[in-house]
Amino acid sequence: MRQEINLISDTITRPTPGMLEAMMQAEVGDDVFGADPTAQRLQEKIANLFGMESALFFPSGTMANQTAIKLHTQPGEQMICDKWAHVYNYEGGGASFNSGVSCKLVDGHRGMFTAEQVEASINPPHDYHQAQTRLVAVENTTNKGGGACWSFDELKRIEKVCRKHGLGYHLDGARLFNALVEKGEDPKIYGKVFDTISVCLSKGLGTPVGSVLLSDEKTFRRAIRIRKLFGGAMRQVGYLAAAGIYALDNHVDRLSEDHRRARLLGQTLESCSYVNKVEPIDTNIVIFNLEDDVDEAAFLKAMSDKNILMITMGQGKLRLVTHLDFTDDMLEVVLKELKELEKEQLQPELK
Ligand SMILES: *Cc1c(COP(=O)(O)O)cnc(C)c1O
Repeated sequence: MRQEINLISDTITRPTPGMLEAMMQAEVGDDVFGADPTAQRLQEKIANLFGMESALFFPSGTMANQTAIKLHTQPGEQMICDKWAHVYNYEGGGASFNSGVSCKLVDGHRGMFTAEQVEASINPPHDYHQAQTRLVAVENTTNKGGGACWSFDELKRIEKVCRKHGLGYHLDGARLFNALVEKGEDPKIYGKVFDTISVCLSKGLGTPVGSVLLSDEKTFRRAIRIRKLFGGAMRQVGYLAAAGIYALDNHVDRLSEDHRRARLLGQTLESCSYVNKVEPIDTNIVIFNLEDDVDEAAFLKAMSDKNILMITMGQGKLRLVTHLDFTDDMLEVVLKELKELEKEQLQPELK
């Protein structure tokens, strides 16, 4: 059988030979004692990239986000985020479990919202019946929003609202590098606007493990303590940090290739008789719907019979994610298989 083509997520990548080599060569120490030189090098490198004072390595993006929420809030307070936000939907209810905060959900567009919507979501600070609003969290690119990129101007307008009302401002930048590359933006503009930024090294950048949380020095000191109590302080973590350094040096610019391949997948899907709608494609995520009279399970099976894997997101949405291990040759195979599939094959009553 042909090699598996996995478009389930950009997290399924394996370290490249060059990355593995960098990991094997890493100089390490006990990072719980602050003695791992490679972890420190990674943290300094990414902090400099964003023009921020500090960065802290985490085992997952979830823990980095949850630490940020804890840093900005006290139990009983409220955080504003989009109804599709990862911090609300996909972190196991962590905001309430770890920090005792509730979420005020904004009804955004593709996971993004406006400064006016933020302003309207803030509870009056002197009304003690209502939870005190303390934090705004945004996501760039948006995951459930199909890899959409924010307008930086809107992010700046939201910053103004946060400053005016004394709210913390957190960016879940799990796929921030996809947005930076796609829009040709300088990471430093983000460093100026946000109090905290989480970035995943294990998505488009292709490391096996790792995220970082960027902040100022004072916040970093508190973040280390929270990371410890969440169980995220690790020992010879330099082996993983070395993968992160390698990824920042070698895997950032190439993200534009993932975006190009995603757009080609989208164009072909548009022309398929069994596809109803393809969402706009900004970066490396393709979300599409099948025609009403097409059986989703039959489509997924037809694809997996060809060894092409993808996932359903519910509500009739299917998702493809391009990544480091998805080559042009694989793209050709997927495009060919999509084109060859006929709507009639996917209508259960005709089988
Ligand atoms: C993947 C992801 C995270 C973090 O997930 P982990 O699996 O914990 O690394 C956070 N936010 C968004 C938007 C993501 O896509």
